[in-house]
Amino acid sequence: SAKNAGRDGFAFFTPAMHEEAETQAMLHQEMRFAVSDNQLELHYQPIKHLDSGNITHVEALIRWHNPQRGLVRPDLFIPLAEKTGLIREIGHWVREEALAMINRMQQYGIQLSVAVNISTAEFYDRELAQKIVQQVQDAGVPRGSLMVEITESLLIRNQQETLNFLQTLQAAGIRVALDDFGTGFSSLSYLAAFPADKLKIDRSFVHQMSSDSRKQALVDTIITLGHSLNMTIIAEGVEEEADEILLRARACDSIQGYFLARPMTETMLLNFLLDYPDDIREPARHNPLPV
Ligand code: C2E
Ligand code: MG
Ligand code: MG
Ligand code: MG
Repeated sequence: SAKNAGRDGFAFFTPAMHEEAETQAMLHQEMRFAVSDNQLELHYQPIKHLDSGNITHVEALIRWHNPQRGLVRPDLFIPLAEKTGLIREIGHWVREEALAMINRMQQYGIQLSVAVNISTAEFYDRELAQKIVQQVQDAGVPRGSLMVEITESLLIRNQQETLNFLQTLQAAGIRVALDDFGTGFSSLSYLAAFPADKLKIDRSFVHQMSSDSRKQALVDTIITLGHSLNMTIIAEGVEEEADEILLRARACDSIQGYFLARPMTETMLLNFLLDYPDDIREPARHNPLPV
């Protein structure tokens, strides 16, 4: 307001906004060295196929160990990296690290795909798809072992480019998931035009759905819609067993969430996988050894 204008010339900067801008500027400064100083790390969260009980893949989720601030969550620094363009360098690093991880898992006899998130802001690079395909080839990982997650906002922004992007990736055997589905503003006609392989129902619909019939109705509709478009459906944010049971009854294909496992370090994931009873349909039930 006019009352805030004057003295120091910051006409519409409240103290809080000023502080926020300062924090952002500082974070940006600090983030410039995050990649080269090895401050970034990937955590991994498993995705379980409901019918077989198998872990089909993991999602890579970035973490930043800021020397002053400790662990910074991606919701805070990814938007900033998007604004400053640093997201390209970070995105490249994430894929390199995920591909190296796929190779390390192979050494343990674990054949698992890894999904990486791709920011809409990375698409200002028109050669992104070719670069990703090249990264995968250079890493020498099995075909199909890297997957990517994009959001609806991409579909709205550059339709022809998005289509080219998807086709280039899919020709190289890289599957694509539509992340956070239901939170964007894409019309259904976009879905018809963009052949993604998987659809991830945003956790806002899944959270506490067992006690919310409206959420259940929406989840039902999304599952039916996705299946009719030949997509595999993953429910995000499954925190309770009741949700898993409901999703299973509704023919949802896979689940991801704290009920199964939180995102974890590579070492924790390897232990989780080596312990995981992949030949058992129901959650771990340890039969006593015969005496
Ligand atoms: P996302 O891709 O939708 O990832 C899922 C988020 O939900 C993760 O948050 C995960 O920790 C969280 N989550 C998983 N299960 C549950 C649950 O049962 N309950 C609740 N409440 N949350 C759950 P995270 O790791 O903080 O990441 C947040 C977002 O940051 C991601 O959302 C993604 O959009 C972005 N992000 C993460 N890593 C990267 C990355 O490497 N590159 C880019 N561009 N974005 C990333
Ligand atoms: Mg994701
Ligand atoms: Mg998501
Ligand atoms: Mg999200």
